[in-house]
Amino acid sequence: MARTALITGASRGIGKGIALALARAGFDLILNYRANAEAAETAKKECQALSPNIRVATFQADIAEAEERKRLVDFARGEFPRLDLLVNNAGVAPELRTDLLEETEESFDRLQRINLKGPYFLTQLVSKWMIELRQRESKDYHPSIITISSVSAYTASVNRGSYCVSKAGLSMLTSLYAARLAEYGINVYEIRPGVIATDMTSAVSAKYDKLISEGLTPIARWGTPDDVGKAIATIAEGSFPFSTGEVFNVDGGFHLRRL
Ligand code: NAP
Repeated sequence: MARTALITGASRGIGKGIALALARAGFDLILNYRANAEAAETAKKECQALSPNIRVATFQADIAEAEERKRLVDFARGEFPRLDLLVNNAGVAPELRTDLLEETEESFDRLQRINLKGPYFLTQLVSKWMIELRQRESKDYHPSIITISSVSAYTASVNRGSYCVSKAGLSMLTSLYAARLAEYGINVYEIRPGVIATDMTSAVSAKYDKLISEGLTPIARWGTPDDVGKAIATIAEGSFPFSTGEVFNVDGGFHLRRL
């Protein structure tokens, strides 16, 4: 039976890179997005062009809203016989980078709702569906859940503290769901991307060009959505059956301490 992946925030950037990599691997796809329907349709067409035989659906839903998360999962349950992979990718940066001492509660709340509460409760909804499927499907059904956090899960950036807090929370989401879902054969992983060239980082590209040229990362280049997509496709193939709660750094070696 065809394997299906649901990717949040798949219209652009890293989410689209993940969609293309999973299309290449033969997954049927549900591409979620919040607002940009045109970009989502383009992503769908590109996936379909790579693999004409897969089924690709787009679905608008704001993952920050409980009702919309439910609509998204109801759609997936209605349209696809099973779900093999959830990728919690959708996320936002602060609208304004602001010093920690000046940051507003509104900005903090927005980031936690989209970046942390959204994936936390979407994972809860999807887990229940995957548990049901485990009881029904054949023994070779090994679903998994992958969350895109960031190097910001452990790197203090004092001009976007709320973003860092939301990403640190996602690391605990991974540990919690890995511990809770292991008995059902559902493995849970975290990917920590470094500096990746997308719309999110385009506003600060000059800053990162300079940092990279000065040695920020041992692999001295920007990461690409395809770098993250390749990592996801490898995990999704089931290459790590005895690993759960695992963190994969896709960061050009940013996390290495050097002397
Ligand atoms: P991006 O280019 O800004 O794309 C964001 C994607 O998320 C879009 O598809 C957008 O949909 C969707 N989205 C935003 N808010 C949403 C919501 N409330 N509900 C559903 N979808 C929503 O961002 P990106 O750089 O690819 O980042 C993707 C993820 O990787 C984020 O979680 C980010 O924190 C993380 N990350 C990025 C970097 C980096 O350097 N770029 C590094 C580490 C981690 P629309 O097109 O409809 O707006």
